[in-house]
Amino acid sequence: MIKVSLNGYGTIGKRVANAIILQPDMELVGIAKTSPNYEALVAQKLGYRIFVPENSVKSFEESGIKIAGTIEDMIKESDIVVDTTPNGVGAKYKETYQKFSKKAIFQGGEKANVAEVSFSALCNYDEAINKQYIRVVSCNTTALLRTICTINSVSKIEKVRATIVRRAADPKEVKKGPINSLVADPVSVPSHHAKDVNTVLKDLDIVSMAVIAPTTLMHVHLLNITLKTAVSREDVISKILETPRLVLVRGKSEITSTAEIIEVARDLGKLRNDIPEVVIFEDSIYTKGNELFLMYAVHQESIVVPENIDAIRASMNLASKNESIRITNATLNIKG
Ligand code: NAD
Repeated sequence: MIKVSLNGYGTIGKRVANAIILQPDMELVGIAKTSPNYEALVAQKLGYRIFVPENSVKSFEESGIKIAGTIEDMIKESDIVVDTTPNGVGAKYKETYQKFSKKAIFQGGEKANVAEVSFSALCNYDEAINKQYIRVVSCNTTALLRTICTINSVSKIEKVRATIVRRAADPKEVKKGPINSLVADPVSVPSHHAKDVNTVLKDLDIVSMAVIAPTTLMHVHLLNITLKTAVSREDVISKILETPRLVLVRGKSEITSTAEIIEVARDLGKLRNDIPEVVIFEDSIYTKGNELFLMYAVHQESIVVPENIDAIRASMNLASKNESIRITNATLNIKG
């Protein structure tokens, strides 16, 4: 059993912690929190061992939340750390992981050079095998890469033009906006998403543009892909159906929005309403000669969770790409 710890128990961290517990080849050492807030209280109720920075020991003791030790204690007990701290904080922790010679998985909010490889399970699992430091790309980039690598296996891609409608905040965030505007963010073109895709697919011709919309549920991407040869809509659909972590919203379901997708997750009793798959609108798939158009929704809070689990297996060389994806999907109830 590989000992994994989770540093930064927030939106992504709480989901990855839960996913680690469900893996047959992993054991959760504990989670790290900095403040004794409601998330720490819930973590205690869930039975997690909680580790804190030296200077937070007193505040946790005063709050009555039992701690198992300091973050350094947690790192020392681990074979590998999943770092889901806020943007830029992970890079600071890298020194500590290095000090104790521990492997680490970083998130997309870190600069690409924090790790030896940026990671997408479907695109470049093998490049990450045995790597000391791996960076799982952001939610938007994970969705772009899963889709692009899948389409590229139907017909070689010449170029990708992507428009990204980003959710303004996660549901738990109370201080973010906008609430009455669509904001070009970034206003400059290309947006950073294209550059992030290029950290994995170095030679791909991709340009992306992004706006922020006043919603918390999901992102939506509008893709225009030019292929080297003409493809049929049916070929694209059958490839999507046979690819793990991509699902189709069939036209007859009458679902046309992120609100309805999340409602389905609620009705199915999915934990936290999570949908880690890329949710592609079947009726948006349109081909014209060498061009392919499609739209899909991305659940930002959960899409990177299976990739974090696969990144742990790649780093520890626990399984092949297909085997890891199979185990992760089966344990997390994700389309295989
Ligand atoms: P978050 O703010 O929800 O969670 C971060 C957690 O880290 C919080 O619990 C915070 O208390 C804790 N923390 C802060 N400073 C710390 C420190 N010094 N030591 C230990 N813990 C500390 O953030 P998030 O949304 O989960 O984002 C985490 C990472 O995942 C970022 O790199 C982000 O870019 C990336 N990411 C986020 C999303 C998303 O939609 N939320 C999607 C994909 C990737």
